[in-house]
Amino acid sequence: LAENNEIISNIRDSVINLSESVKDGQKNPEAINFSQGSISELFPSASVLPAVDSEDCLFASKSRNHGSGVQMLDVYDILPFDNPDGGVWKQGFDITYNENEWNSEPLQVFVVPHSHNDPGWLKTFEDYFRDQTQHILNNMVIKLQEDNRRKFIWSEISYFSKWWDGIDSQKKDAVKRLIKDGQFEIVTGGWVMPDEASPHYFSLIDQMIEGHQWLEKNLGVKPKSGWAVDPFGHSPTMAYLLKRAGFSNMLIQRVHYSVKKHFATQKTLEFFWRQNWDLGSSTDILCHMMPFYSYDVPHTCGPDPKICCQFDFKRLPGGRVSCPWRVPPEAIHAGNVQHRAWMILDQYRKKSKLFRTKVLLAPLGDDFRYAESSEWDQQYQNYQKLFDYMNSQPEWHVKAQFGTLSDYFEALRKESNVGEKSSNSFFPVLSGDFFTYADRDHHYWSGYFTSRPFYKRLDRVLESYLRAAEILYSMALVQSSKSEKMSVFPSVDNYKLLTEARRNLGLFQHHDAITGTSKDWVVVDYGTRLFHSIMNLKRVIIDSAHILILKDKGAYNYDMSTPFLKMDHVQSSQDSLPRKTVIKLTSQPRYLLIYNPMEQERLSVVSVNVNSPRVKVLSPLGKPVAVQISAVWDGATTVSHEAYEISFVAHLPPLGIGVYQLLEVQSSEAVLADYNIYLRNSKQEKPDRLFKIKEMQNSVDNIILENSYMKLWFSGMSGLLEVSSSSEHSTFLG
Ligand SMILES: [Zn+2]
Repeated sequence: LAENNEIISNIRDSVINLSESVKDGQKNPEAINFSQGSISELFPSASVLPAVDSEDCLFASKSRNHGSGVQMLDVYDILPFDNPDGGVWKQGFDITYNENEWNSEPLQVFVVPHSHNDPGWLKTFEDYFRDQTQHILNNMVIKLQEDNRRKFIWSEISYFSKWWDGIDSQKKDAVKRLIKDGQFEIVTGGWVMPDEASPHYFSLIDQMIEGHQWLEKNLGVKPKSGWAVDPFGHSPTMAYLLKRAGFSNMLIQRVHYSVKKHFATQKTLEFFWRQNWDLGSSTDILCHMMPFYSYDVPHTCGPDPKICCQFDFKRLPGGRVSCPWRVPPEAIHAGNVQHRAWMILDQYRKKSKLFRTKVLLAPLGDDFRYAESSEWDQQYQNYQKLFDYMNSQPEWHVKAQFGTLSDYFEALRKESNVGEKSSNSFFPVLSGDFFTYADRDHHYWSGYFTSRPFYKRLDRVLESYLRAAEILYSMALVQSSKSEKMSVFPSVDNYKLLTEARRNLGLFQHHDAITGTSKDWVVVDYGTRLFHSIMNLKRVIIDSAHILILKDKGAYNYDMSTPFLKMDHVQSSQDSLPRKTVIKLTSQPRYLLIYNPMEQERLSVVSVNVNSPRVKVLSPLGKPVAVQISAVWDGATTVSHEAYEISFVAHLPPLGIGVYQLLEVQSSEAVLADYNIYLRNSKQEKPDRLFKIKEMQNSVDNIILENSYMKLWFSGMSGLLEVSSSSEHSTFLG
C-alpha cells in the first residue's frame, strides 16, 4: 500500500511537471518522443500525442494540503485485526447508554422496508422474476396503497422494467402516485447493483445510465440516494460516479468487520467520501456505512441479532423461516406491546450510540422478501403497532416510523445542519477504499477478483464491441438519413440489438455475475447473453461500416443474408475460444477494414491471419506497409502452413476506418520472425521450410527476454517465469 501511495504521488508529480511545462509553452521532450530503436521508423511524426491542457489537471495544480480526516491507508495500519469476541455483537463491543440521553431531543427512527433482488444467483434472472420478483412488485402496489404510512424502496431497474412492461396502465398510474407521495422510492436505480471490483468503469456508468434513462422516460424519476447492501467490498469509484450522476447520499454495507468496529468506536460510520486525488471537496458525497454483519433483519435493528430476529415477523412460528438464535418472534398484541416495543427501542438506542446524530436508520428486509401478501401484513401491521405504542409514550422520547432511504438522509442532513452541497465539519471526510472485504474471521472475499476469468474476459470483449458499435451506428444513422436509397438501412432493428446488448452487459455487472459467484447454470445463462450480444453487435458493426465506407452511396443495397463484410474473429459458442479467420490471398487485393473506436488518432500493431507468406499490405493511400510474418503453431513445436500471422502498424484517424489492401505477390518483402525453441529430451525434427527455427537442446540455463523497459527470466527447466525486472524494480515470483 505504501508503494502504491508512492506511485500515485509520483504520477501526481509528473502531471504537475507536465502541466507546468505546457504552461511554459514548452512540450516535455520525453513525452512526445515515441520510442527509440528501429520501430520509430514505422511511426509518422510524433505530433499525434495530444498536448495536456493545464486546465485538464486541476487536482494536480492545487495545494497539497489534503483536508481528509480519515485516510483508509492509515486505518489499516492502526487496526490490530485481532478479532476478539464482542459479546452479543460478536464483531463489536458492549453498547451502553443513559436513560435520559434523549430527553432534550428524541430519537427519530426510520424503518426502511426493502427487498434484495439479485438479477441471477441461485436462479437465473428469468426464474427469479417468475417465481419471486414479479409477486413482490405486484404486492407492493396493493399493500402500500392500503396505508399511506407504509414505505418501500427498490433498486434494480433490470427487474423493475421487465415488470413494468407486463402491467396495465392502472397499475402504472398507482406506482407513479406512490412515488409522488413519497411512499415508494427508487434507490440507486442502476440496471443492477453492480460489483465494485471487477467491472470496468465504462460498464458501471453504462448500466447506471441504462437504469436512469429508463426511469426518466417511464417514471420521470431521478434517484438521489445510493443503496449498495450486497457488493463484496466498496470502491470510491462508485462514490465518484454516484456523485457525478447527481446523487447526494449513499449507503454501503459489506465492509471488513474490523473497519466497521473501528468506525463504530470513532463514530465515523457516516462520512463524506472524498476521492483520494481531490484536494478540494468537489467529490464529497454523504455516505452511511451499515455497522453490523449483514443487511438482514437480525443484523439491522441493533447490535443483538437474537433480539432483532424476534422483530422479523416473516419468521413467526409456523412459517418457512425461523430464528437461528432459537427465540421466535411474537405477533404484537395489546398484551405484549409494551414489553416488545421496549425491547426493540433498546436495540435502536444502542445502535444509535454508534452514530453522531439522533436520527436512526433501521432497514427491514432481506433477499427476495415481501413476495407473499401475508408477509406484507406480518411486517407492516406488527411494526405499525410497535410504532404507535412507542410514539404514544412521551417519556420514551422516540418517534418511530416507516421511511424511505431519502426520508432518512433528509432528516439526517436537517439534524446535522448539512446542506445539500456543503460538507461542514459535522461529519468526517474519508478517502480510500473498502477492499478487501472479510465478513468473519479470515474469510477474505478476494477469490472473486479472478474467478471464472473466461467470462470476465467475455465481459470486456462485449464492452469494446458495444462502444464500437454504438459509435459506428450513430454515424451510419446520420449518413442513412441523407438519401432515399439508404433508408433501407436497418436502423430500428440495429437499435434494438444495441439496446439488448447494453442491457446484457449491464446485467453482467451484477455482484453475482461478473464476480463469478452464481451457480453454474446461471453462469451459462449470462454467458449465452454475452455471446449472443457479441454476435448481434458484429451485425450492427458490419451494417454500419457498410454504409460508411461506400464511396458511391447510391450503390447501397442491404441484404441481410449476404453481409457486405466479415469479422476477423469467430466464436462458435458461449464457452468456446474465438478463432481468427484465415484470409485467402490472391493477386487481386482483399480489403481489410480497420476501425479506430477511440477519439484519438491511433497507431496500433494489427495482426491478421492469411493463407500465404507471399504477402503485400498497402495502406489506405496505396503505399506499401512494413509487415512481419509470424508462425501460426499447430502444436508446441509444429508450424502450420495453412495460416500465417501478419502484423503491421496501422495508422488511423480518431473514430476512423482505414481500408488496407492485402494481396499475394511473387516475392514478398515481409520480415520473417525467427524462433528459438527450448526443448528437453526431444528428437530433432526436420527444419521448417520457411521460418528459421533454432532448437535449444537440453537447456537448463535461464531464458531471458528483454527490451529497453523490461527483462524477464524464465526457468530453463520448467519454462515458468521466475524474475521480472523493470528499469527500477525487480520482482521475484514464487
Ligand atoms: Zn445480492
